[in-house]
Amino acid sequence: MRPAGAPARAFVVRREAISAFPRALLALVFAGAIAGLPAGAAGENEEVSGLNSLPEVKFAALSQRDWNPLGSRALAIHPADWKHGETEHFIYHFIHSYVATPISLEAEFNYRVIAKELGLETMPNASGKSHIYIFEEPEDWKIFQGNAHLEPWTGGIHSLGSLFIVRDPSFKFSNNSLGHEIAHLILFRVYQRALPRWLDEGFAEYISRVARASFQRARHYNARPLSDSIPKGAFIPLARLTTLTDYPASEEINIFYQESERLVRFLSAADESAFRGLLDAVARGEAFDTALSRHYSGRFFDVDALEKEFLPYASKDAKALAASP
Ligand SMILES: [Zn+2]
Repeated sequence: MRPAGAPARAFVVRREAISAFPRALLALVFAGAIAGLPAGAAGENEEVSGLNSLPEVKFAALSQRDWNPLGSRALAIHPADWKHGETEHFIYHFIHSYVATPISLEAEFNYRVIAKELGLETMPNASGKSHIYIFEEPEDWKIFQGNAHLEPWTGGIHSLGSLFIVRDPSFKFSNNSLGHEIAHLILFRVYQRALPRWLDEGFAEYISRVARASFQRARHYNARPLSDSIPKGAFIPLARLTTLTDYPASEEINIFYQESERLVRFLSAADESAFRGLLDAVARGEAFDTALSRHYSGRFFDVDALEKEFLPYASKDAKALAASP
């Protein structure tokens, strides 16, 4: 998938991105393909697949409320239509359970991949559930969208630990956009604060590609996590990338996402536990260069040294990258 550089395209990509599985795949999931999920996956999903749909829970009976004001604004649009349900790590607000069910399966799948990558079981604040609001009508979504900014990459709206998406049944799920947004939800849940853009977006993009490939492999597709290479002339110097406080201008937004993803991929591949330490430190407010020299002292002396090694890695094409660890 490519990001939507222009607002007009963002709408198209978003609708394609955040929708459910093709019906045939969904049927397969329910028919028992779920057994192919990684360890721990099948059990958790039985509650979803067993009844063939996400069980509905009355709003007052939900295990947690969402205090995000955007949540109440969403539910105020055609209030009688909303139904609710929950799985182990998420609470869903939806119109039809056949729309919410595949989203709940994928949300939990992504949770497990991210929990493994971050070692979530050892982290405080990782408990609790994030709320996901699933709109179905483009008109309702348009009304709601006036409340917040669409993420240019996926077109979802992530705000204070809640996720708002629109799912149009005529568009097929075909990429990692839902997983990308789930990663933001989890990072927010763990740190309760905004992370630097490059790290938030880079991690979300990296881990959702890993999860997507794993999800497809579990269904016997031959899939590898792909990563876009950065043309040398377009490279954003790391000293700038890692200190950006907001998204860059639209002409740089594609490169921004791609390079952030590559940087996270590179740092994680170089030393997984150092990456966890760096992520944790930067998420809590430490400057990137300080956190880098503290966690990668034996590997990269400073940001310049990192950039020297990262530059050729960033420009490798996806196949070359997959071939070399
Ligand atoms: Zn994002």
